[in-house]
Amino acid sequence: MAATALSTRWFDGRQPRAQVVRIRIDGDALVLLSEDTEALLRRYPLSQVRWPERRSHGQRQTDLPDGSLLQHEDSAQWDRWWADQGLREPAVVGWMQSWRTTLGAVGATMFLLVVGWQWGVPLLSSTVAHSVPAGLEARIGRQGMEQLERVFLAPSEIPLAEQQAIRERFTAAVHRAFPDGRVPRWQLSFHASRALGANAFALPGGQIVVTDALVQLLRDAPDVITGVLAHELGHVEHRHGLDMMVRAGLVGAVVGVVLGDASGFLAAIPATLLTQSYSRDAEREADEFAAFLLDRAGIAPAVMATFFERMQRGAAPRPGDAGAPRGPAAELPIAISSHPDSEERIRFFRDWR
Ligand SMILES: [Zn+2]
Repeated sequence: MAATALSTRWFDGRQPRAQVVRIRIDGDALVLLSEDTEALLRRYPLSQVRWPERRSHGQRQTDLPDGSLLQHEDSAQWDRWWADQGLREPAVVGWMQSWRTTLGAVGATMFLLVVGWQWGVPLLSSTVAHSVPAGLEARIGRQGMEQLERVFLAPSEIPLAEQQAIRERFTAAVHRAFPDGRVPRWQLSFHASRALGANAFALPGGQIVVTDALVQLLRDAPDVITGVLAHELGHVEHRHGLDMMVRAGLVGAVVGVVLGDASGFLAAIPATLLTQSYSRDAEREADEFAAFLLDRAGIAPAVMATFFERMQRGAAPRPGDAGAPRGPAAELPIAISSHPDSEERIRFFRDWR
């Protein structure tokens, strides 16, 4: 069999950035070679490589036994390379069988996977995301958080009393907005982060992270911090993190999660978090949630204009300005400073009701 090599991206599980490597099949092993020097980087037995499922949309993601992974944007190119290797089709058959046995249980939701692949994906990903048990979602969030702490976050230097005041202010606003207590569970933590600048993000399971720089940027405007937190809570409420992971081509892995095998999915979380962003619809939903929460809590949603104006003045890249140097927040696409269209969003908050 011709041992053709393919250049692709490798996340080694430690650094946030992908390295370009060459991969090829060598006997019963997959070998990773340095792109420049062709030096051998890794060698994995084929039996332990979890190949991407070919029917999935989007990029091809291969899980490697040491927790690192390969991501290939051009799915057609990947499939051609893979076919050339003369390997056996991955365990699609076994997957389909377990699929059939669960079809009854998961019912119409999962049926969309078969009949509505093209148009059904956005709806499906959201539905699948909502069928992941809360305990597992929390575990997914913790896994992501561990990785982000390693690469981006340092202990906060915001005084504990100030942290607590922000937390209590937000808790009070949430209670005023949802007196029946029907909000998802959330936890708030503060971290210093040189890479992320003034920023905030939420992870599956309800972990909300705010950077010290964001607190400093909005120190004189506590209602605006509450609004930022409300936006992040909107992502938690709508389970956008999981939804995004499903869209990133992890449908097969998430079905594995629903069926009880989370290992492949958990291994893929860090790289997914570092490379994928929420959809525009997801951002709109989070903004709507934020405006609703603020309004019900007795805070004018228009205060959010302050946030966008200060972010634009700061280090964040101008929205839509593709030629601009990448701002620090470009490193984490799910973080709030990476969200596009400030002007439109200012208008949205100003015009609420
Ligand atoms: Zn957002």
